Parts: sequence; structure tokens; C-alpha cells
Amino acid sequence: MLYPPHQPLQAAAIPPQRGPAGPAREDESGPWHTEAVCRRDEAGLFFAPSKEPTAARLSREEAAKRVCARCPVVIECREHALLQPEPYGVWGGLTAAERRVVLARRRRREMELKKAASAPRIAAAG
Ligand code: SF4
Repeated sequence: MLYPPHQPLQAAAIPPQRGPAGPAREDESGPWHTEAVCRRDEAGLFFAPSKEPTAARLSREEAAKRVCARCPVVIECREHALLQPEPYGVWGGLTAAERRVVLARRRRREMELKKAASAPRIAAAG
């Protein structure tokens, strides 16, 4: 599992060689990690503490999204979180629920494209 630049070290229990400043990090995640705005000091914004009330969660997520909005690697981060897929936290300006929606749309689009691609073959065979 790849750890995000904004994940608190204690929460992730990251082995030293895999942590945000570890030597293996860039190889595993690509150079976009080094430009992440959230590497600095916003670690607490991106992941929910346990038993977080809904209003507090919404407020925290909006604050995290504002950080993402000024991040130069928002696209790379978002694609990473979608491809993994990452089940928790705000990544690339999207919450986990929003990423699930994007993934569902992508799956639906892929199915439609496959269906459209196979339609002429079915018609020709029938
Ligand atoms: S887009 Fe957001 S979560 Fe991703 S690296 Fe940038 S600040 Fe961090």
C-alpha cells in the first residue's frame, strides 16, 4: 500500500523506508508526492478521527479540499487514489464517497463502450 503525503505517520504505522520522507517513496509513488502541498502541515485535515460528528467531518473535508485546490499535483493525486483505489481520506480534492461515485461512473462508461464495441459483431452474427 502506498501512503499519501498527508497521512499522519503514527496513524499509518509506516515503516521508515516507506514513509513520506523515505527513500522508497518516490520510486513507488512517482515524483508528484514531492510537490504535494499537504506534505507540510495539514495532516489532520485529510483523514477522519474516530467517531467524528458529521458536521465536523463536512467542515474538515471542505478545508482539505481547499488545500487540494491550490495543490499543483491534484490531478496526479486524484488518479492515484482512484487507481489504487484508496478507501479513506481526501485525495485529489475528492472524499472517499466522491471517489466511489467517479469510479462507478467510469465502470458504467467502460461497460457501455464494451457493449457498443460488441454490438456490430452481434448484429453481423445474427
Ligand atoms: S491534491 Fe490534496 S491530498 Fe493530493 S497531494 Fe495535493 S494537497 Fe495532498
